[in-house]
Parts: sequence; C-alpha cells; structure tokens
Amino acid sequence: MRRGRRGSHAWVYFIWGINGLAIISMVGFSIFYRTSLDASAANAATSTPRPGETRKLPPTSYFLPTLTPNPYYTPPVFETSTPFVLAYGPRPAVIGFSLAGRPIEAYTFGTGKRQYLIVAGIHGGYEGNTIALANELITYLNQYPETIPGDMTLYIIRNMNPDGEARSNDVDGRVNNNGVDLNRNFPTDNWVADWDRDGCWIYRPTTGGAYAGSEPETRSVMSFIEGHNITAMISYHSAALGVFPGGVPWETASKRLAAKLAKATGYAYPPVDTGCVYTGTLADWAVENGVGASVDMELRDHKNSDFKENLKALQVLMNFEP
Ligand SMILES: [Zn+2]
Repeated sequence: MRRGRRGSHAWVYFIWGINGLAIISMVGFSIFYRTSLDASAANAATSTPRPGETRKLPPTSYFLPTLTPNPYYTPPVFETSTPFVLAYGPRPAVIGFSLAGRPIEAYTFGTGKRQYLIVAGIHGGYEGNTIALANELITYLNQYPETIPGDMTLYIIRNMNPDGEARSNDVDGRVNNNGVDLNRNFPTDNWVADWDRDGCWIYRPTTGGAYAGSEPETRSVMSFIEGHNITAMISYHSAALGVFPGGVPWETASKRLAAKLAKATGYAYPPVDTGCVYTGTLADWAVENGVGASVDMELRDHKNSDFKENLKALQVLMNFEP
C-alpha cells in the first residue's frame, strides 16, 4: 500500500510538470504572436500614407452667353456692290465699312518705303467709271507687278462709297446712305454742313454731314491715310472739269502734281472754274494732314475709264516727289 501511494505521488508530479510546460509554452506562444501582430500593424501604419485633407470649395456660378437672338440686331452685308475678285494675286485689306456694312477695300502693290495712294468711287455709282478704272489698274498691276519700282508701295482704295454705288449708277448714287457728299465731309479748315450752290452740283439734296468727319466711309479713309506716310495721292472723280490741286489756297506741290498729271492725260489744268466753292474735300484734308501732294482728278465723262491716259498718270504719280 505505502509503495503504491508513493508511486501515485510521483505520477501526479509528473503530470502537473507536463501541464506546467504546456501552459508555459502556450503563454509564450501567445505573447510571441501578439508581438508579431503589433509589429505588422505598425509596419502597415507607416507604409500607408494618410491622405491630406480635402478643401471644400464653395459652389461657383457660371454666366453663359444667352442664345436668344437680339431683336434689334441687323446682320451686316459682307459683300461688295461690284464683285471684284482677282483670280490670283493680293487680297485686299478691309480698311472700314460703309453705313450699310459694305467693306471698303485697299489693295497694296509693292513693299517699298515711298508710299502713294489712289482713291476711287468717293461719289459712288454716279462716278462709277472711277471704280471701273481702279479695277482695271488693280488687274493690270497684278499682271505686271514690275510696274511698281522696288522702293515704293502703291495703295488703291477701289471704292470709297460702296453704298452709293449699290444704290444707283446715276445722280441718286452720288451720296452715302446718310445723304452726305463724302467729298464735303472731311474735317478741313473750311468744312461746312451747307454751302452756296452757285455753280455747284444741284441735282439732289445733299449735305456735308452732321459734323466734319461724321461718316464711317470718311473716317475709314482718314484712318488709313493717318496710318501711312503718303507722299502723293489722286482722288478720282468724273466728269470733265480737270485736275484740282489740294489745299486752300492750292498748295504748291499739289499744283505741280496737277500740272504734270494734266500734261500726261490731257485733262484740264487749271481746272474749269464753275464758281463753286469746294469745302471739306479729301484732297484738301490730305495736304492739311501730312500728305505731300494731293489732287482731285476728273475723268473725261461718266462712262469711260480713260485707262490708257491714267496708266500714264500712274507713272507721273509714282515719279512725283513733293
Ligand atoms: Zn466727284
């Protein structure tokens, strides 16, 4: 019996020893496991960057253009009254628009320093042959560009009064759409809205404008001349009275240019004196504003362009030094 009891005690110690070892190893493992979990959590925390704070913007309003058409808007007419397009060659510069929105075009030939200017059609369809002449000169110069010396540039404003030209080819086509005589609208020293009609054109009522330089056609040509250093210029008219020098009284260089042009073309100089006093003219304004010499030159009639004579006139113009 005693032996048996001693033996059973030994077994109890042995079993508790095993249990103790098992408990210690379990606790050790669980501690190791937790530590490794913490370590991996720490790794995860450092390797994932935290996104920065997103700023919340206040809502923005956009004012988009309305698509409702303006009932007072009249679309401009972008076409010339006499379609004139060179098959090839320079495109014209649009230097302004008439009251009806027709473009006023300037053709440029040459690139030299000396600059010369021809203006046609200031009296619209009534003097439509001046526009025909300009078209012929433009076509000719496009075909024979060597006509222009290397040191000069020639500008041709082929139709200063496109609304007048579109309206009519007789007396009704002389003024612009405000009834203004554009060759009386320039802000010269002698501009007047109304004038003594003795010896002057009297076939329709016309004015010099609400004020000097009131018309868009006038201002377009003024801006063009002010933007260039023009040595000499011709403003074409018809018919028959001859060559009028610019300036009040006639300016010396312009008189010299008029005499030379008259000699080349056969037009009258001094011009026929009808007793009319011309006010607010382009030629006068030009010499008062820096153009070296300027003339109003009239073709022989209202029909022909006098192309041959005016090809000679072009040579005189291009060789003229004030
Ligand atoms: Zn005229």
